[in-house]
Amino acid sequence: MRILLAEDDPQLGDGLTVGLRQDGYAVDWVKDGIAADLALKSESFDLLVLDLGLPRLAGLEVLARLRGRGQTLPVLILTARDATGDKIAGLDGGADDYLVKPIDLDELAARVRALARRTAGRAAPLLRHGDLVLDPAARQVTRAGTAVELSAREFSLLQTLLENRGRVMTRAQLEGALYGWRDEPDSNALEVHIHHLRKKLGADLIKTLRGVGYMVAKS
Ligand code: CA
Repeated sequence: MRILLAEDDPQLGDGLTVGLRQDGYAVDWVKDGIAADLALKSESFDLLVLDLGLPRLAGLEVLARLRGRGQTLPVLILTARDATGDKIAGLDGGADDYLVKPIDLDELAARVRALARRTAGRAAPLLRHGDLVLDPAARQVTRAGTAVELSAREFSLLQTLLENRGRVMTRAQLEGALYGWRDEPDSNALEVHIHHLRKKLGADLIKTLRGVGYMVAKS
């Protein structure tokens, strides 16, 4: 899952970027509203974490332009402590959720997971596929009740494929979900992760559609 973070406070932005990356998300961080608007126009993201107090272009204006273009990605806004009006304007302006500063990283992570769930069209926190169970909160995978050790990238890749079961995911879509701007993928990295997942979970879980991409069939 690829997240755009728009936050001008260097310390907070750094902390949020590190925290979200540790949770396995690809994070791109921009520090003003114009940069956020440009990124949203030219790149594909699964979630926007948007500080409302941004320089150059206010967060609410970034949000208005985003929704004005018909882009539906979930938006989590960050607001200052006593700015009740901002919360209301943000939610009415098309934000899906908000957090009040100071930001608690665990709460942010839980809200991001909840928004990601809703985007994927499911209310249940666990992803199940046959005897395979993926727990996004605990970042654990079990097969027939036995834990399977996955790297952060393998976990994110499996989660993306399971959330899109029955749909072919192109190489570009999968790479977009795994990598941000600052860590460009090696040309064969995706194949390597798929290879490892097959070794750990069985060869027939992930199908290759030659020249198109990969998919997990609906069970
Ligand atoms: Ca700010």
